[in-house]
Amino acid sequence: MIIDTKLPAGMTLLPCPFCGGTAQIEPDGDGCFIACLNKDCLVVPITLYFRTKHDAIRAWNRRSVADPLDPIIPVGGKLRIVNGTTI
Ligand SMILES: [Zn+2]
Repeated sequence: MIIDTKLPAGMTLLPCPFCGGTAQIEPDGDGCFIACLNKDCLVVPITLYFRTKHDAIRAWNRRSVADPLDPIIPVGGKLRIVNGTTI
């Protein structure tokens, strides 16, 4: 099944952390990844492949783990909130 590229309700994609450009969900087999769309971006970052749009979006929107406003970290191949709540 090809995943659709519409954002789930209530979720947004932060701009590219390198150029401020727009990002987009890119389908890939049974999952997807998020990529910067700015052709002038000098880094053109993409996330890893994720089975769900939610995990790909969370990965893309994740910024430095030192940022106290972002408690989501990768643990054992899954994204978890470090304040004790599993997502
Ligand atoms: Zn970019």
